Amino acid sequence: MRISIDREVCYGSAECVYHAPAVFDFVDDYGVVRPGQEGEGDDPRVREAVERCPSQAISVTEQTE
Ligand code: SF4
Repeated sequence: MRISIDREVCYGSAECVYHAPAVFDFVDDYGVVRPGQEGEGDDPRVREAVERCPSQAISVTEQTE
């Protein structure tokens, strides 16, 4: 499951980094997915981060490649 963050929607609350610091990072006041962690969408901590993101900026989708 592939994780992505919509930077147009993210407002930098850093909730995602709090819930899953191994997967998310905080760069230039925005949440980002750490390089190489984009495929970790099945991680329960990522699910928690998705649910807790106040702007619903995080998406977890089926990998298509
Ligand atoms: S929790 Fe959502 S709004 Fe907050 S930094 Fe992460 S992606 Fe952005």
